[in-house]
Amino acid sequence: MKTTAPVEKNQELTVDIEDLTYEGMGVAKVDGYPLFVADTLPGEKVKLVVTKTGKNFGFARALELLTTSPDRVDLKDKTYMQTGIAPLGHLSYEGQLKFKQHQIAEVFQKSHLDIPVLPTIGMEKPYAYRNKAQVPVRMLYGEIQTGFYRKGSHNLVPMEDYYIQDPAIDKAIVIIRDLLRQYNVAPYNESQQKGVMRNIMIRRGHFSHEMMVILITRTRDVPHLNELIAGILNKIPEVVSIMQSVNPKNTNVVLGRTVKKLYGKSFIRDQILGLNFDISALSFYQVNPVQTERLYTRAIEQAGLTGKEVVIDAYSGIGTMSLAMAQHAKYVYGVEVVVPAVADAKRNAKLNGIHNVKFEAGKAEEVMQQWKADGLEADVLMVDPPRKGLAKSFVDAVGQMKPKRVVYVSCNPATLARDLSLLQEFGYHAKETQPVDMFPQTQHIESVTMLSLD
Ligand code: SAH
Repeated sequence: MKTTAPVEKNQELTVDIEDLTYEGMGVAKVDGYPLFVADTLPGEKVKLVVTKTGKNFGFARALELLTTSPDRVDLKDKTYMQTGIAPLGHLSYEGQLKFKQHQIAEVFQKSHLDIPVLPTIGMEKPYAYRNKAQVPVRMLYGEIQTGFYRKGSHNLVPMEDYYIQDPAIDKAIVIIRDLLRQYNVAPYNESQQKGVMRNIMIRRGHFSHEMMVILITRTRDVPHLNELIAGILNKIPEVVSIMQSVNPKNTNVVLGRTVKKLYGKSFIRDQILGLNFDISALSFYQVNPVQTERLYTRAIEQAGLTGKEVVIDAYSGIGTMSLAMAQHAKYVYGVEVVVPAVADAKRNAKLNGIHNVKFEAGKAEEVMQQWKADGLEADVLMVDPPRKGLAKSFVDAVGQMKPKRVVYVSCNPATLARDLSLLQEFGYHAKETQPVDMFPQTQHIESVTMLSLD
């Protein structure tokens, strides 16, 4: 086999870790050839074994830390590092916040964007924050287990304390696992495509404490379903909604195409910035409620609303930011592609007695073009796209509509940099970028950038 790698699989060597990738892996260079090593930090000298070599880079596993970084923290439970739940758990929180600021700055620099990146706004308690969990159910050594996948695999590591999740959710998962054991409901077997229970998904309102349980099953029929429902309601009084989603496919996608109600409401209600929101199973909802309020507050401040503005909220989800902005604007138009989320947004407007909003279901890039064609003129545009960022046709429509300000909430620095460069070509100028840590202990980076016309 022809390879340019200067190292071989299973070779042991001692290296210095020089950098961290955006995925939180340490980087060592051997004759310029990068090796990625999980659970290592810049400045550490590490004995490692090469596990995989490719043409341009390879992977290795740390065997021994010969020196440790002052930024290293000892996690009380090593399980977190074996799974993908807390890939930055070994880095001090201070170090994580700097890492995120630095990552954005680096991407900007590579893209020749001269935009200062402010220090990351972090959490006082950077754990136990997630209001949503999605865990696989599997049979391990004859016992039904719930937990998290080992990094880069589909091998389940049983867990009861997930560290970054709301502890009430962790407890609920254990209760449901025990009910599955009690009634012997067969877990999904991926290799044989057999079994029933694939995943348990739980969402809990941080303020309301309302809980939704979604049972994701391979088959429509679930043995002892009535006993399971009764057990869940009896043992977890916060549950106001139990749903089932059937996913018969051999896929990594967790949810099936539809969800049906087994008990109670088909949504939970929670509060953000003093407003009420109903959230149904398929709708996006920010996972870190404490930081969401900070993120939204920053984004809305940057929108500079005085009560006179026409605002577009693109990628509006269940209307969280739209409704918060409507209180300070003349009118808000929201656009979102997931139909049940749009239904939630409309219901949420009514729920809060907010009438100066309109929600449209569709692709932001298409609806934006349509709005432009219809002569809609927005003063402020809020965008909060998924990781792939804005479609080129969306940016083109912005360039034609020319809102005075664009507030860009991003969960991916790479596509943020790409889109900011495009917006610059239309005369937009960004003063600074503010990272807000929505995902402590993980590599994910969220930020807010305001652009205005020069
Ligand atoms: N601003 C909302 C949602 C942000 S998440 C909040 O803070 O809660 C991004 C949202 O974009 C998701 O709801 C997703 O369903 C939606 N989305 C993804 N691609 C889209 C597209 N092409 N057009 C419109 N919405 C899209």
